[in-house]
Amino acid sequence: MKAEFVIIGGGVVGASVAYHLTERGAKDVLILEREAAQGSGSTGKATGGVRAQFETEINIKMSLYSLDFFKRWEFDCCYEPRGYLFFATDDRQFEYLKRNVEFQKSLGVKDVEVVDKKAIAEICPILNCADITGGSFGANDGFINPLAVMRGFSAKASERGAKIDFETHVLAIETANGKVKAIETNKGRIECEKVVLATGAWAKELAKTAGIDLPVEPQKRQIVWAKAAQTLPENLPMVIDIGSGFHFRPARDFVDSTANADNTEVLFAYPDPHEKISFDVNFDESFIEKVYEKAKHRAPFLFETTPILAKCRAGLYENTPDHHAILGGCGVDGLYFANGFSGHGVMHSPATGRALSEIILDGKATFLDVSCLSFERFAKGELLHETAFI
Ligand SMILES: Cc1cc2nc3c(=O)[nH]c(=O)nc-3n(C[C@H](O)[C@H](O)[C@H](O)COP(=O)(O)OP(=O)(O)OC[C@H]3O[C@@H](n4cnc5c(N)ncnc54)[C@H](O)[C@@H]3O)c2cc1C
Repeated sequence: MKAEFVIIGGGVVGASVAYHLTERGAKDVLILEREAAQGSGSTGKATGGVRAQFETEINIKMSLYSLDFFKRWEFDCCYEPRGYLFFATDDRQFEYLKRNVEFQKSLGVKDVEVVDKKAIAEICPILNCADITGGSFGANDGFINPLAVMRGFSAKASERGAKIDFETHVLAIETANGKVKAIETNKGRIECEKVVLATGAWAKELAKTAGIDLPVEPQKRQIVWAKAAQTLPENLPMVIDIGSGFHFRPARDFVDSTANADNTEVLFAYPDPHEKISFDVNFDESFIEKVYEKAKHRAPFLFETTPILAKCRAGLYENTPDHHAILGGCGVDGLYFANGFSGHGVMHSPATGRALSEIILDGKATFLDVSCLSFERFAKGELLHETAFI
């Protein structure tokens, strides 16, 4: 078997790469997915947050491009501009948020502003603001449906001729003389010269088969889903404590869209620093107690809610040492990475797909300079710095 372009991994990122390659006229595009359906990796676990409130230029620009894409797209991806509210509990954090807002505005982010304690209490009336020094609010940040994004990309890509083979587990990337030659799968060998590794948290092992040490590590992320006795405040945004990463937002059920019609369901979580590098995706019930303990002080309303165990979930972040994606080629000719999104892969999927298609077809991305996300940055010691990592 032969294919011109092979994409390994049929999550939102692989689907976006296929969409953008076929948009540019690529004909022979084959996605290989080891599961029987798409969305069983991190994409199916994502809550669907999208924001332009980042610290680094590249993350802000990736978000600006992607937000614009979601707004204009022919597919309904359920974009809801509910806003992201970051709050600080000391002056140093508040100064950090103020600097970020200035920088975001200078790059063209609209409707982002510094907010004082009074404004924060108005935006989020269930927050205990006693120790809050200030914050930032981005009105265009909000929510999307990760599965709808993935399906939209896939539908259009297949309409333009891309194929997807399910239950096809890629075992190795075969190389010779510094070039990709073929892919070994559980169903046999596929000859190809251009391969995109879009296997999310599972990328490292496959990269190793091509002799590349890809610094992408899996880390469990858990979300508590709960039901309140009363309706949530109207227009509740995503709310984040910049100090601890504790955050909450109204829940969206992407499987049953009739659920939460009464607006009583809420998600909350925080990045547990004790989570080890692991592929474990079992929800650990002891996390519920930890999160409620944080909610007790910050939002007593949340403390009064009842967890819905069946909807609590765990999935994998695909972390890199600087919490930025790895996009583009490497020392092996024909091998490209779209990995390491460190929890932002859904929101950045449009910019990622476009970047990869331009790098593969034109040699470099011109719609946006993504060279700072190259794999080589690790060898050169040119790591990026982003502390707004949640
Ligand atoms: C709890 C949680 C909440 C999140 N919230 C957000 C959010 O609000 N916003 C946001 O932007 N991001 C969020 N993320 C991160 C987001 O889910 C990921 O960054 C994104 O889904 C990555 O997409 P992907 O296509 O690269 O990976 P995946 O969706 O994991 O897809 C990779 C695919 O590769 C397949 N695969 C793996 N190995 C092989 C192999 N050897 N052969 C063939 N196929 C293989 C897998 O089966 C899988 O389908 C969240 C993640 C978690 C866990």
